[in-house]
Amino acid sequence: MKFSKNEIIKSNGSTMKVLDLLGDGGQGEVYLVDYDHNKYALKIYKDIQYDDFKNNLRSNIEKGSPSDNFLWPKKLVELEDGNFGYLMDLRPNNYSSFVSYLNGKDGFKDRKTMIKWCIELCTSFKKLHEMGYSYQDLNDGSFFFDGDTGELLICDNDNVTANQKNLGVLGKIKYMAPEIVRGDALPDTHSDRFSLAVILFMTLCLGNPFEGERLKNYNIIDEKAELELYGTKPLFVYHKTDKSNRPVRGYHASVLKRWPTLPTYIKEAFHRTFVDGLQDRENGRTTEIEWIKQLCRYRDELISCPKCGVEYIKGLAENKPNLVCPYCGANSKKLSVLVIGKSYIVLELGKKIYKHHIDKYSSDYLTEVGVVIANKNNPSLWGIKVSLNHDILVKDSKGVEKTIQANGVIPIVKDLKVKFSDETIGVIYEQ
Ligand SMILES: [Zn+2]
Repeated sequence: MKFSKNEIIKSNGSTMKVLDLLGDGGQGEVYLVDYDHNKYALKIYKDIQYDDFKNNLRSNIEKGSPSDNFLWPKKLVELEDGNFGYLMDLRPNNYSSFVSYLNGKDGFKDRKTMIKWCIELCTSFKKLHEMGYSYQDLNDGSFFFDGDTGELLICDNDNVTANQKNLGVLGKIKYMAPEIVRGDALPDTHSDRFSLAVILFMTLCLGNPFEGERLKNYNIIDEKAELELYGTKPLFVYHKTDKSNRPVRGYHASVLKRWPTLPTYIKEAFHRTFVDGLQDRENGRTTEIEWIKQLCRYRDELISCPKCGVEYIKGLAENKPNLVCPYCGANSKKLSVLVIGKSYIVLELGKKIYKHHIDKYSSDYLTEVGVVIANKNNPSLWGIKVSLNHDILVKDSKGVEKTIQANGVIPIVKDLKVKFSDETIGVIYEQ
């Protein structure tokens, strides 16, 4: 431990007081400090003294964070002995580590909350890439989630650098793109996209996309085995034609259970990245915006079973409606559907409508503009409570028009046309 409690640290004319040691990792120590009457986390590197790393850190601080989802370095701290580090905000207590999700300790409240987290993850990567950065050190220790709200927090952002630059940190092998594992390329947007797909697969299926029967070929998973499994001979466990690396019963139970429940379009997005994307790193990998669109589709048509409570898709986008729950066989709920363009929003109680649904130019997939509610006096009457700053026009099947005021409720009735704007008209269908 470099500093003791109550020690005063000096850096470029500022001082901060050490309150506690928060963590001691391989790369550095993290302290709780008081600076300018606020509490922060201070990371001090152990042996890194080279200028490249420090300059990159300084430049990232100056450019600022891509979004609120990143626990971004805030202030460079330079010590008199030549060591350095940075200040960042403290991680709030409501976040759990992705590692604790993978080992079953913490979880998401439900599937729609998990999908929201996935959408936030893709949105954050999109913003990071738009700023010309790549994440590089992608691994399960960097991601945090609020299991109740689906909020995402990304930590350890000190390894973020410009594309095609690398500071000697490459992340964990099982999250890396194969060309990085082999040492054939430097991390960039394309390798980040591969890693993003790995994390999405691990979130949705609770297993690694390249770990299947082939594991049986190795007595131990050493460096040579890892190089083959993730670098020179990666084989997606659900490759459509080469079935030699399927998940193993007993070992990969979660993957075997969860994969069949995914919509075809999500499966295709994985297949594309993990099969086509092995060779074609530029065009073969599902991009962030493609993921966001498919995940929104998934969220829109998710319903819950009235008997066992499990969430599954209605199957409308694929034209294969699930008439019964795939888990317990109970009849699916009869629900109305709001169709806006290519979106099929199944109107279950609590289902949300987002900005992108009602504005085709919007790339906001997270701001809610409506929610399905039941009438307080007559719970069998449902409606969509909107939160907009403009009126909406609705027209029923008889042609009668009505204005729904901002913050009003759109009644959920058969064949109602909803004009959100001149360009966006939705129709409510009964199933
Ligand atoms: Zn069920």
